[in-house]
Amino acid sequence: MRLDKFLANSGIGTRKEVKDILKNKKISVNDIFVKDGKIQIDEEKDIVKYEDKIIYYKPFVYIMMNKPAGVISATEDNHHKTVIDLLNNEYRTYDIFPVGRLDIDTEGLLLLTNDGVLSHNLLSPKKHVDKKYYVKIANSLSDDDIKMLENGIKLEENFVTKKAKVEIICNNSEKNENLAYITISEGKFHQVKRMFKAVNNEVLYLKRVKMGNLSLDEKLKLGEYRELTEEELNNLK
Ligand code: URA
Repeated sequence: MRLDKFLANSGIGTRKEVKDILKNKKISVNDIFVKDGKIQIDEEKDIVKYEDKIIYYKPFVYIMMNKPAGVISATEDNHHKTVIDLLNNEYRTYDIFPVGRLDIDTEGLLLLTNDGVLSHNLLSPKKHVDKKYYVKIANSLSDDDIKMLENGIKLEENFVTKKAKVEIICNNSEKNENLAYITISEGKFHQVKRMFKAVNNEVLYLKRVKMGNLSLDEKLKLGEYRELTEEELNNLK
């Protein structure tokens, strides 16, 4: 395996950061300093050190899934299939977990990984990572509804939602076609459904289409998944 890939996969940093670390002569392979990330190493045998500390190879895995309805965003469940059950055996040896939760009836973009740091960064309320959802709702939205959804709605005694963005796709109650995108930066339990309920509406269908800079690959059918590309991963970090 290439040394730079080994380092990036071991969580040392992004490919770009790894380049700088190598340039600064902080990496040794079998006690010889190496600046060239392109060299091949044997991750089972060679001793790679970063500032004199051995790096044990523990590759991270990053998977984008188009979650289907009826499946739980958890690692285990006594009653339902989980998103982990949808992964094939090649991933069973990694301790993969879903980054955050989608309701059982929500579809769309779900990130799965064994990288706790990335997961924490994406979920931390302090980071305000945007999540964009496609919603089908029961009634059309008035201008006032949109203002309320966008400016903040009280959902609980001590919780008012942060600013959100609503984009109407179609507002047509007669034809039963009320479709919109809503982008929120929080992730409270049932948040989108509760926000629409607070303006006397009802979410009939919910699908997450984007999280941070990561968009759902529309080529993925429900239940399908693929690993993130290097570019997608770097944009997410
Ligand atoms: N908001 C919801 O109400 N449900 C989800 O699954 C995600 C966001």
